[in-house]
Amino acid sequence: MKKKIIIAGNGFASLFFISYFLSLPVFPFFAFFLRRIYARYEITVIGNGQFIYFPAIPEFITGKKTRKGITLDIRPYLWRRNIHFINDRIVDIQNNGRTVLTTQGRYSNDALFIGTGPGFMLDDIPGTREHTFSPCGGPDDMEAFMHKLESMQAGIVYVGFKLNRRDGFVAGRGGQMYECACLLDYALKDKGLRDKFEIHLFSPNIEPGETGAITNRLQERGIILDYGYEPTAFVEGGMLDADGTFRQADLVLYTPGITASGWVQQSCLPISTGGHIDVDKFGQVKGLDNVFAAGDCSNHENPPPWVPHQAHMAQLRSEAAAKNMRAVLSGGEPSHTYRFELSCIMNMENDALWLHAASDDKPPFWNIFPRHSRKLITVKNLFESLYLFYLRYL
Ligand SMILES: Cc1cc2nc3c(=O)[nH]c(=O)nc-3n(C[C@H](O)[C@H](O)[C@H](O)COP(=O)(O)OP(=O)(O)OC[C@H]3O[C@@H](n4cnc5c(N)ncnc54)[C@H](O)[C@@H]3O)c2cc1C
Repeated sequence: MKKKIIIAGNGFASLFFISYFLSLPVFPFFAFFLRRIYARYEITVIGNGQFIYFPAIPEFITGKKTRKGITLDIRPYLWRRNIHFINDRIVDIQNNGRTVLTTQGRYSNDALFIGTGPGFMLDDIPGTREHTFSPCGGPDDMEAFMHKLESMQAGIVYVGFKLNRRDGFVAGRGGQMYECACLLDYALKDKGLRDKFEIHLFSPNIEPGETGAITNRLQERGIILDYGYEPTAFVEGGMLDADGTFRQADLVLYTPGITASGWVQQSCLPISTGGHIDVDKFGQVKGLDNVFAAGDCSNHENPPPWVPHQAHMAQLRSEAAAKNMRAVLSGGEPSHTYRFELSCIMNMENDALWLHAASDDKPPFWNIFPRHSRKLITVKNLFESLYLFYLRYL
């Protein structure tokens, strides 16, 4: 009997997991044929079938990226690999991970990988759901933001974020919101409307007076820094300060801190102090056999305080989890760990920064790229095109 593996979710973590778990990362025709004849495992993915390339969403602001260009039907990718697909939403995991419940069914497994992505702390600041938009909400949310922006000829826009640091790392989306603020500046200048708008950047997690390359880029663009600011509520037309004062904000783009999704909190999975799925350094869910997790839904064991949730980190973590799952399914012990690395290109359309930190101090790509150059936008677009090409055709 082939061992049954369930992969929960079809985002970055799950797709990287698949590429490292199978013996081949690419599936040209002959490999596709072989996998139908011989496969050691029966693999099933449960998800919505739509892969979203989130790093491109901020570029909706400049009109360079659209929903269609960054959303991909993942079923052909799975089909080429002879992986079953169930189009459904997981609502619970029971029986120490051996049973996965969806809205329509109940599925058993010999090994489980969880890559169901982030849950956002939408109830942390009242009014977040009703009065803010977020690039992290996906294409629908970002299109709604753009719709409102396009209807405005003048106004005050607040761009902000809050981080969940309770697990000792950066569970939130700071870099992305800086990127959105700078792209907004560019887009409004392009339309000749910049002098009619105020753009504010706020975050309770940034110390007032903080300096550095990102702050310099924001100041160059006349973006007002509200570092240290946290509203007590988002309300119609603005925000409330701690003393109850109303602060006008015609449009708010805001992303709250990250935990695992709500359903995870009710399941049999162990939960960390910060609300993530609690995993060890091998990507194993603590206390459960043959259950692994990676990506934004899970925490880290002993992380450096600067490490964020990123697609890039999801890749490093999924690689270790895939190798360790293979080891335990063959009767061995998990031994693969992962390095911590923050690596992303902050696109400002007329400029770009490569933000980077690594636990082993290794530079990105052997330092062949500059750290501050508009040319990095081409590099960022190249990564996106290559990855989407891989998912579409290989
Ligand atoms: C605007 C923005 C810009 C970003 N820019 C960058 C960047 O430049 N570089 C970088 O490295 N990272 C970037 N990130 C972060 C990156 O996108 C995330 O870290 C990454 O998507 C995490 O991968 P994941 O698989 O954990 O989650 P996701 O990619 O969100 O995938 C989660 C998957 O689980 C599915 N799912 C959720 N709940 C269920 C359920 N109950 N049942 C079944 N399936 C479920 C979802 O449909 C999805 O398929 C950015 C994120 C955003 C929002």
